[in-house]
Amino acid sequence: MEHRPKQPTGKGPAEWFTGDVWIDPIAQGEPPSQLNIGSVHFTPGARTAWHSHQGGQTLYVTEGRGLVQSRDAKAVEIRSGDVVYTSDGEEHWHGATPDHFLTHLSITEGPPQWGAHLTDAEYQASRSR
Ligand code: MN
Repeated sequence: MEHRPKQPTGKGPAEWFTGDVWIDPIAQGEPPSQLNIGSVHFTPGARTAWHSHQGGQTLYVTEGRGLVQSRDAKAVEIRSGDVVYTSDGEEHWHGATPDHFLTHLSITEGPPQWGAHLTDAEYQASRSR
């Protein structure tokens, strides 16, 4: 058994996120595994930029309310207990709703590819569709 003390919480970089996002690292695989598990905390209105994940991504919502949207699809509202899977290379974003915090686990087995920031117009439009 290995008891690993909690690692420091890190700030989500402004290149990848809009608004305040904080990340608690949970688990990283030993090579050749590229497993990465983190708990990602979004303040109200905060969200990722558009991006995709090599090998896909599983999100598990542990607290609050959020939004997930794939390119050319409707946004989906997510809540505690929900699981969302995006497949290899599927372009998407995720984040908190304007009035609630969101915390989700992120489970990936490969690196992300980052694109453009989500604009305020795109974020607003995702809620009215
Ligand atoms: Mn993602």
